[in-house]
Amino acid sequence: MSKENKLQTLLRSLPAMERILSDSRLTDYDSLVERDVLKRICRATLDRWRETMIEGDTEVYSDALFFAEIKDELERRRRPSLRGVINATGVVIHTNLGRSCLAPEAVKAVMACADGYSTLEYNLESGSRGQRNAHVEWLLCQLTGAEAAVVVNNNASAVLLVLAALGDGRESIVSRGELVEIGGSFRIPDIMSFAGTKLVEVGCTNRTHLVDYERAMTDQTALLLKVHPSNFSITGFHSAVPREELAELAHRRQALMVEDLGSGILVSAAELGIEGEPTVAECIRAGADVVTFSGDKLLGGPQIGGIVGRRDVIEKLRRYPLLRALRCDKMTLGAMEATLRLYLKGQWQKVPTLAMVSVPKGRLYERAVAFRERIDEELKDFCLLTSLVETEDAVGGGSYPEKPLSGWAVSLRVSDGTLSAGALQERLRLSSDPVIAGAQANALCLHMRTITPDEEGRIIAALRDVLSEV
Ligand SMILES: *Cc1c(COP(=O)(O)O)cnc(C)c1O
Repeated sequence: MSKENKLQTLLRSLPAMERILSDSRLTDYDSLVERDVLKRICRATLDRWRETMIEGDTEVYSDALFFAEIKDELERRRRPSLRGVINATGVVIHTNLGRSCLAPEAVKAVMACADGYSTLEYNLESGSRGQRNAHVEWLLCQLTGAEAAVVVNNNASAVLLVLAALGDGRESIVSRGELVEIGGSFRIPDIMSFAGTKLVEVGCTNRTHLVDYERAMTDQTALLLKVHPSNFSITGFHSAVPREELAELAHRRQALMVEDLGSGILVSAAELGIEGEPTVAECIRAGADVVTFSGDKLLGGPQIGGIVGRRDVIEKLRRYPLLRALRCDKMTLGAMEATLRLYLKGQWQKVPTLAMVSVPKGRLYERAVAFRERIDEELKDFCLLTSLVETEDAVGGGSYPEKPLSGWAVSLRVSDGTLSAGALQERLRLSSDPVIAGAQANALCLHMRTITPDEEGRIIAALRDVLSEV
C-alpha cells in the first residue's frame, strides 16, 4: 500500500462524531457539561489525533487511548480551577496561594453583602447616595492617624493613582536604591512613565543623601517618592535618607512627600516579634503627605490598596477620574472593614496573617510533636519515617527577604523508597484536597506555622489517599 493510501486508511479509523458522543464512556458527563461543549472537546481531540497521524507520529488508532484523552480533559475541566489549598510551606503571605487568609469576621462581612443588597453606596440616615469609601475611611484614619483615606484595587493601583494625580506632567524624584521591581511587571520606572510623571533618579544604588534630593529639586518637582525595597535588602556600606528629613525638605520646597510602604503594617513590628518595618502611622507621623500600602500583606486583609494622608491631597485623588477605574468591589470593602474593626478593638491576634507571623516558636514545636504522633498513629500501616525538623519559615509577600522566621515542621519520607520526597510532594499537590508542602534533605516538610489545626486531619487524609495508591 502506498504511503498516501496508508494515511487515508489510518485517518478513516478515527471515529465519527456521532459515534463518539453516543459512546457509553461519556454518558457520565452528559449532566456535567453542555452538549456543545462536549462536542468541542471531542472535536479538539479528533483534530489532535488527525494531526499526529498526518505528521507520522501516530501509526495506529487506539480507541482506549482516544477516549481516555477525552475523559482526562473532561475530568480536568469539571474541577473548579480556583479552589482552596492547604499551605504547608511555612510562607505566611504566599502570593501564589492568595496572600492573606481572612479572619472569620471578615468572611462573615463578605457573605453579608455578597448574596443580597447592601449599603455599598447608600446612606441609611439620609436615604440617599453614599460613598463606597466611607465604610473604611474613618477606620483607616483612626488606625493610622491620617486625616483622610481612600482605597483602590491593590497597592500597585494605589501607586499608579497617586503618581498620576499628584505627579502628572511634572517631576518625581526617587533614590536609585529604591527603583525596584516588585514582581510580575510592577517596576517603579515603568509605573512612573505610565502615570505621566518624569522620573528623576538621585543618589547611588547603595547610598543616597539628602543633598542629592535637594540638588535635583526644581520648580518642576511635584513630589519626592520613597519606596520600600520590599523584596531585597542592601547590606554593608549603605544609607538612605530618613523619611522625616525627606518630608521636611519636600515641604520646605512646596513639594509632596509620598511613601509606598508596600506592606501596610498597623501594629508595631516589635509586637509581632519581627524587626524593622515601620507602621503606616509612623510614616504619617514622620510627615509623609501620602502613604500607600497593600491590604493583603502584613495587614492581613483582602487585596486592596490603601492610600492615607493629608485631607487636601486625598481630596485630589478622590476627584481624579482614574479612581473610578481602580475602585474596589463590595466584598473586598466588607472584608477590609471587618479586618480593620479587629484592629480597632485591639484584637489583631484574630487576624490570621498576624497570628501566624507572631506565633511563638515553642507553640509550633508543641504542635509539631502532637501532629507527628498523630501521623505515626493514623498512618502506621504505611512505611513512613517521620521526624521533627527546625525550619526557616518566611513572612513572604516580598516582606523581610533576609529575615526568616524560625519554626518547626514534621518531616516525612517513605522508608521503602517507593516514593521520593519530590514525588510525594507532587502527589499531595494533585490530591483531591491539595496540600502544598515543602521539601528539605529529600524529605517532605510540613511547616506547622501555616497549617491550621483543622487542616491537620485533612493532611493525614490526603497522605492516606496518596500512600494507598502506591
Ligand atoms: C507589594 C508591593 C507593591 C504592590 O502591591 P500589590 O498590593 O501587590 O499591588 C508595591 N510596592 C511595594 C513596595 C510593595 O511591597
